[in-house]
Amino acid sequence: MNKKRIALVAHDNRKRDLIEWVEWNWNILIAHDLVCTGTTGRMVEEVLMKKTGAPFSIEKLKSGPLGGDQQMGALISEGRIDLMIFLWDPMEPQPHDVDVKALLRICVLYNVPTACNRSTADYLISSPLLNQEYKPIETDFTTYIKRKFDRL
Ligand code: PGA
Repeated sequence: MNKKRIALVAHDNRKRDLIEWVEWNWNILIAHDLVCTGTTGRMVEEVLMKKTGAPFSIEKLKSGPLGGDQQMGALISEGRIDLMIFLWDPMEPQPHDVDVKALLRICVLYNVPTACNRSTADYLISSPLLNQEYKPIETDFTTYIKRKFDRL
């Protein structure tokens, strides 16, 4: 068993989906550390409390539109998130659309496995890699940083 740090984020129209998914996978999820944006986190805590029958506390960042997505991005850039389930809303613009884009970008940049719909989330949660040591391959940005510095 290899404990992972799993990020869970859902936009309002996708929260029901995420909560259903958490209810379905609660016994796998409780073995890992969970990090959520504010409102998602409160809902996830509630459902896990119901399932486990005991108070369940997870790490809650600020609400997404209040900076939570940016906090999550910072954790990713520090290598502190192993995988992310991010059910973003494809049908409605969000007040923090720029933060959403930034979060998705940083996931790609740091090669963090990211699920944006339930079927991908199902694949991630059932991957044998979940319980193994796994270090995503990191891109070496040394040349990029050096070139940029030399140019300026
Ligand atoms: P929330 O934020 O969990 O506080 O609703 C999610 C988001 O909108 O990014």
